[in-house]
Amino acid sequence: MRVCDRLRKEIGDKAFKTWFGEVELGELKAGKLRLYAPTRFVRDWVGRHYGDRVLAYWQSVNTEVKNVEVNLVPPPAPRRPNEIIAMPPVPSSQNSHQTPMPRMGPSIGRGADEISQNPEARYTFANFVVGKPNEFAYAAARNISEQDMPLPERNPLYIFGGVGLGKTHLMHAIWHVIRERDPKTRVLYLTAESFVNRFIQALRTKNTGQFKELFRNVDVLMVDDVQFICGKEASQDEFFFTFNSLVEQNKQIILSSEKPPSELQDIEERMRSRLGSGLVADIHSSTYELRLSILQTKAENARVPVPVNVLEFLAHKISTNIRELEGALNRVVAHGQLIGREITVEMAQDVLHDLLRQADRKVTVDEIQQRVAAHYNIKLAEMSSPRRARSVARPRQVAMYLAKQLTTLSLPQIGKRFGNRDHTTVMHAVRKIEELKVSDHSIAEDVELLKRQLQG
Ligand code: ADP
Ligand code: MG
Repeated sequence: MRVCDRLRKEIGDKAFKTWFGEVELGELKAGKLRLYAPTRFVRDWVGRHYGDRVLAYWQSVNTEVKNVEVNLVPPPAPRRPNEIIAMPPVPSSQNSHQTPMPRMGPSIGRGADEISQNPEARYTFANFVVGKPNEFAYAAARNISEQDMPLPERNPLYIFGGVGLGKTHLMHAIWHVIRERDPKTRVLYLTAESFVNRFIQALRTKNTGQFKELFRNVDVLMVDDVQFICGKEASQDEFFFTFNSLVEQNKQIILSSEKPPSELQDIEERMRSRLGSGLVADIHSSTYELRLSILQTKAENARVPVPVNVLEFLAHKISTNIRELEGALNRVVAHGQLIGREITVEMAQDVLHDLLRQADRKVTVDEIQQRVAAHYNIKLAEMSSPRRARSVARPRQVAMYLAKQLTTLSLPQIGKRFGNRDHTTVMHAVRKIEELKVSDHSIAEDVELLKRQLQG
């Protein structure tokens, strides 16, 4: 902390406290030292007025520091438990014949009260709006939560789907039902990230025995976002053993992931086949109808009435994920409530202009075709022509690839826009460009450039 002391001395206690009181020291990477400021104002001020000095002081104590960058503190991750452990309370009487559960580090739930406040209370089946895109995952989750004994063909339950589509919500909902049915059931919910961190920690402190004990003594294990484990070999192995040991004991395992097992990368084959060996249920991207009914449900609980046309407007405009949709509704409601502004479509447009601008900036197939044709200097009509000469076929493939990447259209829909081609042609194009991006530098550059221009 020599740097801080020098700085404090030089600029005085008061200024130091004002400007550096809440500034946090970040990481040093490739010569760049990052500081994190709590607000934009502090960030700018510190950067402008003290940047040089901070750099000079740092360089005098650490020659590796080449420059200093002041950033805004990243917004806190939404407060959501990444571990919930529910074990029957350890009996307090000394003559109990139950063996107390092994204890882990200080952060894991140890008593009944610590546990009870953990799971997200509003993530229940009752609060989950069911529609075509999620009905199967919902039914599967419900079914699992109601089984007394896991059915081998439904173990593990593997729920997959894009970000913000309700996977975590369903897992917590299962948690609630299981615990309501039998409070003695030992349920452990954690994110794969948490699993990995715990495992690393156990290795470091040479406590793998305890680690194994904990995981192998649960009745139900839920691991959220398992895709995180990809590429982490040792954790994967450990997860595999845990998994097998639980399945052998006929314990239920519930997993969520952003991808189906077949699309997980950097994962051992035995693991992949294990993951997909039970019931695999996907959540598709939401439809307008589902979004609207979710909004209607949420709006019913809001403190101010939200007109239907505003809900329709939101369901129409914000199609990425349910979390954003909820966020948008909350903002509109908060403005209505706090400033007393009447909630109308114009008002929503105004309040959400940043979000909507993003949504409006959606790239269309027309734009993609125009840009790509211009880039390769070919006629726009070639995008839909039957010609197969490489000089037009390759740009067409690039355009199809970009359409897949930058729009939400399905392969058949994309095929249609390129002279009524079959979806397998589009799939082939996407694969081809993916391959070429690796082997052919100029294609990779073209694609990146076009992407940037289109998203600009
Ligand atoms: P994921 O884990 O798939 O990224 P979450 O489960 O965290 O997504 O869901 C994001 C937000 O959207 C949560 O607040 C959740 O309650 C809400 N949500 C998602 N799907 C639904 C649904 N079908 N009905 C009600 N709320 C939903
Ligand atoms: Mg989640």
